Amino acid sequence: MIRRVAITGGTHGNELTGVYLVKKWQNDPIPVTRESFETLTLHANPEAIKACRRYIDRDLNRSFATADLANPATHYEATRACELNALLGPKGAEETAVDFILDLHSTTANMGLSLVVSSESTLTWEAVRYLCAREPKLRVYRWQGDEEDAFVDSIAPNGFAIEVGPVPQGVLRSDLFMQTETLVYHLLDFFEKSNRKAALPELHEKVTVYDHVALIDYPRDANGDLNGMVHENRQDRDFTLIQKGDPLFRKLDGSVICYEGEEPLYTLFINEAAYYEKGFAMTLARKIEL
Ligand SMILES: [Zn+2]
Repeated sequence: MIRRVAITGGTHGNELTGVYLVKKWQNDPIPVTRESFETLTLHANPEAIKACRRYIDRDLNRSFATADLANPATHYEATRACELNALLGPKGAEETAVDFILDLHSTTANMGLSLVVSSESTLTWEAVRYLCAREPKLRVYRWQGDEEDAFVDSIAPNGFAIEVGPVPQGVLRSDLFMQTETLVYHLLDFFEKSNRKAALPELHEKVTVYDHVALIDYPRDANGDLNGMVHENRQDRDFTLIQKGDPLFRKLDGSVICYEGEEPLYTLFINEAAYYEKGFAMTLARKIEL
């Protein structure tokens, strides 16, 4: 039984889709209200939203590792992570304040409408399957990234993030705003039907998942500074296959670096602005049926 669901926006303060969806629902909660459970909407990182920055001191969406929550640093996001953990978690507890966290993000990469699943559970995968059945263009990425088990949604037993793009940081785009909004309503309908044991529509046996394989960094010089960029033929080609010999980077001197991997894989989060500082130009994933 789902009792409480949290929808968080502005975990990254310059991703305005989630910031303004939460504002909209705080002004008028009726669209996110369902009879059989309570829906909480909140801004995860209010100071970063005010500053229209991804974060103040540290990426909040890497601040929920169990060890960091137990022994928090003194900066803003560490404090905020503990507040959110108390409000929505606590992480790992038998009884948590909410049953599911939906975290709203946007990306500068051409990711379309996608889900990022990082902490897995039966309910999480049922919700994913339901959404894939309702929204055929939805794609699912199973993340194992730079820091494990440290996302906002990891403090509840179930949850995932919605990523939509391409949208620049600090910008609202109505098409992606409305696609995200519709997907949220489908998810809430799923919980309602599931609570009422209502007949759910025929769910596909399997769901296509892009399963994380590796992160690739930009080409860099001896000082660690970029000396190349994503190749023009790879730009915007998220969720497409890359094969050995395909152009990957264009160096500043005009030369080309090709993909050398033996296994053809899918490229995701290509040229995401927030990942320059993390040291990755894109992620590679394997397409599987789960
Ligand atoms: Zn984000």
